[in-house]
Amino acid sequence: MTENPRRALPSVDRLLSHDAVRGYVAADALGAVAETARAVLADARDRIGAGEPAPTIEALAGAVARAVAMERRVGPARVINATGVVIHTNLGRAPLSEAALAAARAAAFDYADLEFDLASGGRGSRLTHVESLARRVTGAEAALVVNNNAAAVFLALTAFASGRDVVVSRSQAVEIGGGFRIPDVLRQGGARLVEVGTTNRTYVDDYEAALGEETSALLRIHRSNFRIVGFTAEPELPELVALARRRGVMMLDDLGSGCLLDTTAFGLMPEPRVQESVAAGVDLAFFSGDKLLGGPQAGMIVGRAEPIATLRKHPLVRALRPDKATIAALAATLSHYAQGEALTAIPLWRMIAIPPATLTRRARRVARAIGEGATTRPGRSMIGGGSLPEEGLPTTLVALPPDPGGRSARTIADAVRATDPPIVARIEDDRVVLDLRTVPPGDDALVARLVRQTLASSP
Ligand SMILES: *Cc1c(COP(=O)(O)O)cnc(C)c1O
Repeated sequence: MTENPRRALPSVDRLLSHDAVRGYVAADALGAVAETARAVLADARDRIGAGEPAPTIEALAGAVARAVAMERRVGPARVINATGVVIHTNLGRAPLSEAALAAARAAAFDYADLEFDLASGGRGSRLTHVESLARRVTGAEAALVVNNNAAAVFLALTAFASGRDVVVSRSQAVEIGGGFRIPDVLRQGGARLVEVGTTNRTYVDDYEAALGEETSALLRIHRSNFRIVGFTAEPELPELVALARRRGVMMLDDLGSGCLLDTTAFGLMPEPRVQESVAAGVDLAFFSGDKLLGGPQAGMIVGRAEPIATLRKHPLVRALRPDKATIAALAATLSHYAQGEALTAIPLWRMIAIPPATLTRRARRVARAIGEGATTRPGRSMIGGGSLPEEGLPTTLVALPPDPGGRSARTIADAVRATDPPIVARIEDDRVVLDLRTVPPGDDALVARLVRQTLASSP
């Protein structure tokens, strides 16, 4: 008679003293490893009950170690973005520059003159650090920083349009993504949305006809993530500014990305620039810190001094204020623009500006290092983050070979996401493809090695 295989399972104590597990037990204040070991044993007992053979102690210890390592992964942590989507919202949008990271670290790691005036030794304001830089690079009279662009728009609408009308072109009453819908934000801010024009064509006269006693502002919203083409019309910003001035209402401009550089220099469509809005004379312009600006998550409000002074005193500012690390990183990011070094210092712009030939050379080298039939092919990198939709930059992709073991492209993509660090790739034409535009060049060899190991590991 064969022995009951359930009896063959080791005790919890034996599992915990196994070489693969012991190290985790040593750094476990909460008894979590023992709990995991019990769960792994219970699972093994169930499988044996279902007719499977008893696992070895090595297999059980390996399962405990993997489960504990997974539980101990403290995120968000680094991943390698091989999707070629430069502003990938799910992967944290813009990576910071070295200087921005160093500034954030220094401000967060020790005490900082966050709200302290070094000259007088008295109280200062956390908002002054960014303001003078923002003024310099955008040309605006004043600036204010909050946690993100959604907060920036919400604050301004709450402060200036509560209980009143805000006129918006029908083609701009949009959803930006993640549930951020302009009509909802207006409602939350207590403002009434007055839609004018049609989906494809809106004229200055449409805005003018909607202006009344109750109107507080005209609001232009950048249609960040889609484009309307064909039979279209939209007033130029200076025309809207002139109308707003004439009728004594505010001109508000939600720019979305907050681009300060000329995107056409890279073969992209023109993205509205903050300086242009300011020069056109808008009262307030709003933009994100972590889209095309290339900095930390933040919402910038720039424009005329008077409305910004009003906003600064609004009670909501306290609820929406960014922390010291963000402020330090944002100031460092803006100073790259002030010093004319944005293209070389800010990772996002470096990635946009990589010459196609460089990407081809890197892709060939990585494909060679992966071997096993990896090839290169032309493709497109996307800007993402709701900027410059439908459009991309030419790139060279590394296409992974079909798996000899018969694993699907999806399974391979899952497997490269389980490496350390995880590699996030794309699937195109049933092949896993890597776009090195968004991979730091120093990591090409690491990517090749991790992918090679993944392909070599048995299914
Ligand atoms: C992205 C975007 C927002 C939201 O910005 P967050 O910084 O993500 O809050 C608002 N308006 C427009 C036009 C956008 O493109």
